[in-house]
Amino acid sequence: MAEHAARERLEKMLGSSGPDIGCEACFEELDRYVELDLRRADAERAVPGMRRHLEDCPACGEEYESLRALLEG
Ligand SMILES: [Zn+2]
Repeated sequence: MAEHAARERLEKMLGSSGPDIGCEACFEELDRYVELDLRRADAERAVPGMRRHLEDCPACGEEYESLRALLEG
């Protein structure tokens, strides 16, 4: 029935075809993501694909690091 959709979702979860949320969505969610991360909440669940993008994209990774450092005080 929904076999194709299920497989597609699984592939996304495994990251084989890799949903990358992109820089725009990344910047939009960065504040929220960092806050959750600092609270040790499940930031990756709140913003799926974020971690992957931060690892893949040096610009956003850097932005993440500096925002995190800022909020950590
Ligand atoms: Zn980016």
